Amino acid sequence: MLYQRSSQLFQEAKKYIPGGVNSPVRAFSAVGGDPIFIKEAKGAYIYDEDGREYIDYINSWGPMILGHAHQPVIDAIIEKTKKGTSFGTPTEIETQIAKLATTMVPNIDQIRMVNSGTEACMSAVRLARGFTGKDKIIKFAGCYHGHSDSFLIQAGSGAVTFGTPNSPGVTKGTAKDTLLAQFNNLLSVEELIAANKNEIACIILEPVAGNMGCIPPQEDFLEGLRELCNEHDILLIFDEVMTGFRQAEGGAQQRLNVNADIVAFGKVIGGGLPVGAFAARKEIMDYLAPIGPVYQAGTLSGNPLAMAAGLAMLTELHDHPEIFKSIDEKTIYLKEGLDKVLTKNGVAFTINQIGSMISVHFSETPVVDFESAALGNNEYFKKFFHGMLEEGIYIAPSAFETWFISEALSYTDLDKTIAAADKITAAW
Ligand code: PMP
Repeated sequence: MLYQRSSQLFQEAKKYIPGGVNSPVRAFSAVGGDPIFIKEAKGAYIYDEDGREYIDYINSWGPMILGHAHQPVIDAIIEKTKKGTSFGTPTEIETQIAKLATTMVPNIDQIRMVNSGTEACMSAVRLARGFTGKDKIIKFAGCYHGHSDSFLIQAGSGAVTFGTPNSPGVTKGTAKDTLLAQFNNLLSVEELIAANKNEIACIILEPVAGNMGCIPPQEDFLEGLRELCNEHDILLIFDEVMTGFRQAEGGAQQRLNVNADIVAFGKVIGGGLPVGAFAARKEIMDYLAPIGPVYQAGTLSGNPLAMAAGLAMLTELHDHPEIFKSIDEKTIYLKEGLDKVLTKNGVAFTINQIGSMISVHFSETPVVDFESAALGNNEYFKKFFHGMLEEGIYIAPSAFETWFISEALSYTDLDKTIAAADKITAAW
């Protein structure tokens, strides 16, 4: 049996951990079978408990933009660890990473560190409400902003994979303040604004959606949202947890040339340690405690190890901006290769790609929003996923996820991936 030790470990884990995992998507529920337990990783590869090697397209769901165990990041963590792991006091490195991040990202003056993307988005929305004095928010069906209550309304990612886009436990009172629009559909937003005059604090979205597969914004969508926000005194929040320090040094704001009012970060900014952050112009950030009235805090926020990993990662990216071009080119190569073999094999598919985010939907209909993403054939996706896994290629175990390309991937790895996709789908 290929995955014997992983399966044994999963049986044991299920006794003590709900569903055997600490985050639902890891359980392989959308694709069936037992999850694979990973023992270690280096560069483009991860190694499971049965000794198998995989080319990794998950990359810890985004943080590992330079590949696993990247030496400068590892060295920074080790050096910091020797000096103590947490003090609960200000430390110099927090200013260093804040200075670098605000240099790299356009249109932000200050940044506050938290411990996850969930916290970043949750705090960004609270800040928007505090700043505007309004209660309601607009989110988009299929966008995922973490598991805080107001976002678990038609959420993407694991929430939809598990068939619970609306979670029990979220009160009606909370749900009524979250209004739902359709991604890439400005009219749906205009209607909500008209029906809730002067009540909307913010519009939050993934500027490139990554939690219903990868869905780039259509032309004028983000610009249109920006205009609507200006017109109606609404703050525009970009959830750049996936896109930040990935779509460009300055994230999606820079790549797509649209300014947000508040930006949420996660993943890459922590270099693989638990970090999130939110940032804005000074006049907005001034609303935060301790100088402003909006409360937000964290015992381990700005933790030295996490900051060391994040600072090392951002420094690498800032010092080597050619990385962004390189990962984009690799992703385009992968897209073209997959396109060719899936076409040759007569498979119905749509590949969406922008920068180093890419996903395959087994549907010929263009995938532009949650509804069209849901048209994909999950039976084909399951077969594809397990086939790839057997060939040593680890893609996200759900069609409602994006793949993340790392700089550690070589063109040989990409060729192997394309050949595996060819082999699997030739037999369909
Ligand atoms: N926003 C987006 C766009 C995400 O993709 C995620 C997680 N995948 C989150 C927020 C939540 O981040 P975390 O899992 O770190 O809480």
